[in-house]
Amino acid sequence: MTWTGSGPARSTRTSSRSSCRLLGPFDGPAFLDPRGGSIRTTATIDALVAELAKSLVHDEVLQVRQVSGDRAEVRTGGRTVEHEHVVVCAGRGTPAIARGVGLELPVKQSTHVRCTFEPAGRPPLRAACLQDGSGVFGETGIYAAPGPDRATYAVGLSDTAGVRDDGTIIDGSALADLADRAAKYVGQALPGLRADPVGVRHCWVTELPWSSDGVAAWSRPGLTLVAGHNLFKLAPWLGGLLAASALGHGLDDRLNPESRLGAAPEGQA
Ligand SMILES: Cc1cc2nc3c(=O)[nH]c(=O)nc-3n(C[C@H](O)[C@H](O)[C@H](O)COP(=O)(O)OP(=O)(O)OC[C@H]3O[C@@H](n4cnc5c(N)ncnc54)[C@H](O)[C@@H]3O)c2cc1C
Repeated sequence: MTWTGSGPARSTRTSSRSSCRLLGPFDGPAFLDPRGGSIRTTATIDALVAELAKSLVHDEVLQVRQVSGDRAEVRTGGRTVEHEHVVVCAGRGTPAIARGVGLELPVKQSTHVRCTFEPAGRPPLRAACLQDGSGVFGETGIYAAPGPDRATYAVGLSDTAGVRDDGTIIDGSALADLADRAAKYVGQALPGLRADPVGVRHCWVTELPWSSDGVAAWSRPGLTLVAGHNLFKLAPWLGGLLAASALGHGLDDRLNPESRLGAAPEGQA
């Protein structure tokens, strides 16, 4: 079990309850990383959008293609514009754009659900993030994180629901089953929370074959495309490298697909 973001550094059996008072009895090994914590995604995106408000264009991209002079052309619903360089980070939409320039990205899609729960009593003054792979509470892949005001706690499974290439969900009850398992886990592991979810977050997962934390970029003259999952935590680093690529400084070797960035070292898969 791993905790991030609360209390002093410890790696003992006793740290888990004091780090997260929402947790039930747990007697296994636990590791606490006091410098970790949740990324405030909504606040981050709001701040970035505010900074760029005047230059952002909201439109659907139908096609990106390379044109003469090592430039790229973007065709959206209402505009056709040529650029010196285009960086594509369209999540689930990136493989289709890539296919249009002759690149087949090895992105595997699936869907994910994470539910939000409220504390059974007053919100705790401190609440750590949680990664539980112990199996003690019936699940071996759980992550959880407090909301910004600790008035909610989000809990999700690392398991995902499979989808076909066109995005249709293969098993119609898979997302509901995953949400039920998250609520059941809360009922068993987190008695400090009410086990009825008060909110839900569904999203697409876009993984590269070598790791759920894998990331890579593909470059062509005038064009860079990035793909992977769990990219938010990498965004400041990734953004700098993609900007350098766009400015003509070349793509950092670590982002080449052959580098398999994010893969577990040999023998540790
Ligand atoms: C519940 C949940 C938990 C997560 N937890 C973590 C975590 O703990 N750590 C972490 O690092 N990451 C996490 N992630 C993943 C992280 O959010 C993504 O990796 C990241 O958002 C990817 O950013 P992106 O800009 O590349 O793609 P996206 O966020 O998918 O954004 C792509 C955007 O492009 C738009 N788009 C697609 N096609 C087109 C088109 N043709 N024209 C115009 N627009 C288009 C989409 O609508 C979308 O708005 C989590 C995600 C979810 C949902």
